[in-house]
Order: sequence, then structure tokens, then C-alpha cells
Amino acid sequence: MNRTVARIVEGTPVNEGEGVLVHRPFPSAQGLREFDPFLLLDEMGPLELPPNAAKGFPDHPHRGFETVTYLLSGRFEHRDSYGHAGKIEAGDVQWMTAGSGLVHSETPETEFRKTGGRLHGFQIWVNLPKRVKMMAPRYQEVPKDRIPEGKSADGKVTVKVIAGEALGVSAVIDTRIPIQYLHFTIQPGASLEHPFPKSANAFAYVFAGAAVIDCQRVEPHHLAVFHRNGESVKIEAAADASEPLQVLLLSGEPIGEPVARYGPFVMNTRDEIEQAFADYRDGRMGTIAH
Ligand code: FE
Repeated sequence: MNRTVARIVEGTPVNEGEGVLVHRPFPSAQGLREFDPFLLLDEMGPLELPPNAAKGFPDHPHRGFETVTYLLSGRFEHRDSYGHAGKIEAGDVQWMTAGSGLVHSETPETEFRKTGGRLHGFQIWVNLPKRVKMMAPRYQEVPKDRIPEGKSADGKVTVKVIAGEALGVSAVIDTRIPIQYLHFTIQPGASLEHPFPKSANAFAYVFAGAAVIDCQRVEPHHLAVFHRNGESVKIEAAADASEPLQVLLLSGEPIGEPVARYGPFVMNTRDEIEQAFADYRDGRMGTIAH
């Protein structure tokens, strides 16, 4: 049986970092339980940036979870308090496990800032279970041409498999808990059925074209949250849409542990949050040399 839709949530426009416009369907006042193990979904832009207008996210810490950046347009660079640095370009994915903690910056790449251009992408936060919250930080950086792609037999559905598997193709990224992070492109009038375990939480975020899911129309910047009442979902691209449907399908096995969350730290208890603040303040997560 295909899952039914519990509700449709519009992404709230929020200014993050130095003033980057993001659409954020969650977290919201309604809580997080139905998204577990995901903590946040931000769509950055899309924005057409004039020269020297691009903004970023200067030095800030993280502990206890993972941040996943997937860029569709634009170029970012990042560096952290362990001396790690690199660039993220259109189509690339950076899966960063903050674990025990680090300080990093995510800023527009110098040349992109200078020339301006289109900025569009996603950052999601994935929680870590207690047993690995304090693991050593690690990066999985996958350039565009190493993100596996799948295609349906009739060619009307394509998928980029960031985590998990779809249309017979498996991701190269390794996750701490079972997660699927899939970017589908579906031609108007075509549809897709995708399976996952009954126990997983799942939702679909539309960012181009329009979808019909469980008889409801879902427009860009909207998230359809599925009930946990089936082992597959069906997503249809609206036949009258002027462009193909582009949708992120995310699912994960709920962790089911208490969540103590404050800003950039996500732990299990208040004491652990206070410890994270103390460790950050006293420089135990390091600093970035400027
Ligand atoms: Fe960050």
C-alpha cells in the first residue's frame, strides 16, 4: 500500500548566516518527531545574486549530528578548525559528520562572490544516535560526477542517489543509520513508486514543477509529510506543469532518543548541551586561523 499524506508544510522564508534567504519547512513549532532522524531542511535560494552580494555562514560550531550540503547552482568554499578546506560546486555533495565537534565556515567562493550568479541548494541536518554523537568528525565529499544516477525504463524518471538506493542504483555515501536522500526528476504526467521500510519516516520536498501525491497537489517550496502506513510512496508529476517535477525524497529510520537542541548543538540532555557550550567557549573545538 502507498503511504498517505499526513500534511503539507510550506517552507518558511528565513534569513540565515550573514543573510542568506532559505526556505525552511522544518523544524517548526509543530515539533520534530515525525521527521526523526532529520533535524532541519533548508532550501538555499534560488537567488539571482548581483556581483559582490553573495553571503555565507561565517565561523560557527557544530556537535552531535551531521550537516549535508547539496548545491544545484553556485559555488561555496568551506574550512574548519582541523585545517580541512575545500570547495563545493553545482551538483556536489558534502556530507559532514560533526560528531564530537568542530568550528567551520561556509562562504561563497571568491570568484562566485565577485561575479554573482544563481545560488540554489540544500542543507539538511541528520541526527546521530547517542552511541556515535561524539565520534571523530569526518567528511564525505562527493563531486557531481561521482553521484550515482538512475533512470526508469521509459526514461521519464531520473534520480540522483545521494544516500540509500533507487531505480537499482546505490549511493556511494555511507550513513550511520539507514537513510535515503534521493533527488528525482519526473517528466509531467509520469509517476514514480518508491519503496522503503514501514518503520522509516519519510517526506518529499518539491522544488520545481508540481507534484500530485495522495490526490493532493504539492507546489515548489512545499513538503509532503507521509504517514507511516505503507511500504512505498507514489509521486506523480502534474500533467499540466510547464516543467519537470524536481523533488527530494528523504526517509530514515527514527532514532527515538531524547533530543536536546540548542543552536548548533544537538545532544540528548541539557547537561550535554552545557558541556558543548563550555567546550566551544574554551576552544576545545578549535578555531579557524584567519
Ligand atoms: Fe555549518
